Amino acid sequence: MSFIQIYEQYDWEEIKNTIYETTSKQVEQSLAKNKKTLTDFIHLISPAAMPYLEEMAQQSQQLTQKRFGKTISLYAPMYLSNECNNICTYCGFSLDNNIRRKTLSPKEIEQEVKVIKAQGYDHILLVTGEANHVVNINYFKQSIEQIQQSFSTISIEVQPLKQDEYEQLADLGVYAVLVYQETYHKEVYKQYHPKGKKSNFEYRLDTPDRIGRAGIHKIGLGVLLGLEDWRVDSFFNALHIDYLQKTYWQTKYSVSFPRLRPAEGVIEPNFIMEDRDLIQLLCAYRIWNEDLEISISTRESEILRNNVFKLGATTMSAGSKTNPGGYSVAEDSLEQFEICDTRSTSEIYHLIKEAGYDPVWKDWDKAYQ
Ligand code: SF4
Repeated sequence: MSFIQIYEQYDWEEIKNTIYETTSKQVEQSLAKNKKTLTDFIHLISPAAMPYLEEMAQQSQQLTQKRFGKTISLYAPMYLSNECNNICTYCGFSLDNNIRRKTLSPKEIEQEVKVIKAQGYDHILLVTGEANHVVNINYFKQSIEQIQQSFSTISIEVQPLKQDEYEQLADLGVYAVLVYQETYHKEVYKQYHPKGKKSNFEYRLDTPDRIGRAGIHKIGLGVLLGLEDWRVDSFFNALHIDYLQKTYWQTKYSVSFPRLRPAEGVIEPNFIMEDRDLIQLLCAYRIWNEDLEISISTRESEILRNNVFKLGATTMSAGSKTNPGGYSVAEDSLEQFEICDTRSTSEIYHLIKEAGYDPVWKDWDKAYQ
């Protein structure tokens, strides 16, 4: 049994109709319930819920503070490589983009770590493209072994791996694996991913199951907002989280809301998601699922990030670079996508403090494992 069997029981158009036919009365009933279900999530992401955004924001804030306190965990992404064998029409690292390719050597990783540590970070997210001939399990293991004394929390966002490879990474102390389905619309997925291993929709859809079976502590999911109707895609993402939480109940889960951002040679969004839509989605996730960690990256604007971290987010990045070697050599031409909030780590740290929240550098110690 895996999520694929659950996924196949649902029809995209039927879910879409259910979302768009939601009434105000259904939204009010969902908001009034103590324990929320996936049906309530559908109501809360519907257009009918938009007039209730203020009430949703209040509920979301209260639930977040009750479960997580007034804290925001900080992490830094470190891009190890922009090599990629896939064509993804929305990504700056796509195989058909004529950019200079780079994979960090141990010496360059050391330089990056030095700069990131100097900013205060203790949680690192290692990111690579999908190029098994260069960035494979051996490269990941070597890189993790090299940096594991420098960070108490190491997360990865790399190509989907086999279960036994995730087990090897769990043994090395990898805390979280992030894998985004991009879109749950199977036919549209194939248009955005015409070439490479990533064009296999089912293999990607099955990946969180392999991570769960391998016993990784946390799984991060999300869709790339802008590829398809964000409401329907978000329902399927919530369905996926719901299944995983019931199946791998010892694992923690997080969700992110990456919106399609400009990068060299990439497409424009097919579906526009406004800031207020993103706030609605964030609040809907929190009201539906109190335990879910919610991450807001530097893809979003200063104005949006200044507000949403108080409404339900639990994790933020700051001062991020999306190109390999970006922290220590500052080569902007290789970036995966354009950063929107370019403020420094120190500025974000003080923003969080001044709002009465605690910025958290370290929320996990290997000794607990
Ligand atoms: S999204 Fe990932 S797999 Fe696709 S081109 Fe970019 S780095 Fe490669």
